[in-house]
Amino acid sequence: METKIFRISSIFENPDALQQAADILAGGGLVAFPTETVYGLGADGLNEEAVRAVYRAKGRPGDNPLILHICDTEMLSLLARQVPEQAIRLGLEFWPGPLTMVLPKTARVPDAVSGGLDTVAIRFPDNLIARELIRRSGRPIAAPSANLSGSPSPTTAQHCIDDLMGRIEAIVDGGPCGVGLESTVVSLTGEVPTVLRPGGITVEELQRVLGQVQVDPAVTRPVEEGKRVSSPGMKYKHYAPKARVVLVDAGREAFVRYVNERKGEGIFALCFSEDSSALQAPAVCYGGRAKPEEQAQGLFGALRQLDDLGAQLVFAHCPSKDGVGLAVYNRLLRAAAFEVVTL
Ligand code: AMP
Ligand code: MG
Repeated sequence: METKIFRISSIFENPDALQQAADILAGGGLVAFPTETVYGLGADGLNEEAVRAVYRAKGRPGDNPLILHICDTEMLSLLARQVPEQAIRLGLEFWPGPLTMVLPKTARVPDAVSGGLDTVAIRFPDNLIARELIRRSGRPIAAPSANLSGSPSPTTAQHCIDDLMGRIEAIVDGGPCGVGLESTVVSLTGEVPTVLRPGGITVEELQRVLGQVQVDPAVTRPVEEGKRVSSPGMKYKHYAPKARVVLVDAGREAFVRYVNERKGEGIFALCFSEDSSALQAPAVCYGGRAKPEEQAQGLFGALRQLDDLGAQLVFAHCPSKDGVGLAVYNRLLRAAAFEVVTL
């Protein structure tokens, strides 16, 4: 299939291109588009066939449900059977933005979207191109990350081109993503609000609005074989480059020493900007040591760069686990398949 590329500098300058992309979505086609988190692979969220095509294009396991993206509260009532008071409080504070809420679903949500669960994940994105596309298509848009399943999520249109060219109808190039990691996913279907996936909205921020908030153990620990998980996506190896990644939890000096003692063919460091001058191995930086937002924005591009450089073994400097750092840590843990060295 021929994949059309629409370059959209702003919603005010390229309305025709936006309309064409929205028409493709409304007609059941697949369009990759920017959001403030990562690029999404959009499809009509109420069209079972279009949703199935998303799973095929990505090679995504059928039991890993999709997030529906909305642009107003009417769409919310169409999809959620119940909007608890906690959801309203979070919506007022963080929507539009990088927060996804899991709520009880209505019968309008196709099983293909919810992976057979009786809940649905909903997000109101902040990116203007994303919102305008949803509005113009006139329906909720199912949009997982626009990468091949298993590879790092795309934070630029080029990443989408690398993974999905020829497999989808169109790619909207709206520049690099601001947050760089997928949304925070919080479930509001149990007694206590539970973070299923950390992201740009931190646990601390959720606690400030809701009081008690818990973090699902699968955020920082591998899911046991055969055990039921609250968020099916957490079962899968994710965000991984082709190289073996080892996460090294250490201060600057210990990290540098550890890597320098092991240098060799195909061995790379994934490090903080402050580390690189002391490293003897080739290194890719993913942000400043005390700058979790910068790390979040740089991580997935850095993982892809390591692949392009032919890395076989990567020693990654472990981020802090506070605030947005928890999201960065969660993605790196999965990239490393939970292989951690603590010094
Ligand atoms: P992605 O679309 O790749 O950003 O992944 C969506 C994430 O949301 C995955 O980790 C899913 O497991 C999670 N998710 C989507 N729908 C639900 C749901 N109904 N209940 C729990 N988790 C969900
Ligand atoms: Mg994804």
